[in-house]
Amino acid sequence: MPPVILSRKVGELEVLTYLVYCLQSREGVIIDPAGEPEALVAWMEERGVELRYLLATHGHPDHVLGAARLRELTGAPLALHRADREFFTGEEGRRVAAEELGLPLELEADVVLEDGQRLAVGELEVEVIHTPGHTPGSVCYLVEGNLFTGDTLFVGAVGRTDLGGASLEVLLDSLARRILPLPGETVVWPGHDYGETPRSTLAREREENPYITDFILAE
Ligand SMILES: [Zn+2]
Ligand SMILES: [Zn+2]
Repeated sequence: MPPVILSRKVGELEVLTYLVYCLQSREGVIIDPAGEPEALVAWMEERGVELRYLLATHGHPDHVLGAARLRELTGAPLALHRADREFFTGEEGRRVAAEELGLPLELEADVVLEDGQRLAVGELEVEVIHTPGHTPGSVCYLVEGNLFTGDTLFVGAVGRTDLGGASLEVLLDSLARRILPLPGETVVWPGHDYGETPRSTLAREREENPYITDFILAE
């Protein structure tokens, strides 16, 4: 049975926070707990969802602002890729958060993720795909044909690469090697609603996303 996927815009930067759960077991995850922790708890409770993980697509503070409080409220661990835990607990990562993004960094990851790791959530499997570029430890989460891309891939665009720790070259390489080989019908659920539609498919992005058509496929 496919996962149930709900989204809402959270915080001043309107991060798309996702609730993804297994209908049989009612076990679920929150992808990018960006704030409004009490509202997110109510969102889960209305549906009887038991939270297994708080999954961060990357360590930028706007995507994890609600994580510490949600962890207290639900007991679910925050999971983040190893490279972003290292980067954002280091000096350069703290500077990026404070000076470039102007947000406090409260990043205490309980679960450190590696590329290829699979997390069981009820009957669902969540696969971790390491896609560095926007940050060193950016990941996409693949759940039964649904790809949660954070700030790596937007509808019609890619994430910023002007911030400390970012690289457009590395991001395009991640897309080319790790994301574009996935099936065209894979649904893309981005970290912000910056495109013509709030979600897309990989087939459509291959046709219409200028970063893919001009920088990757034209090579
Ligand atoms: Zn970001
Ligand atoms: Zn973002």
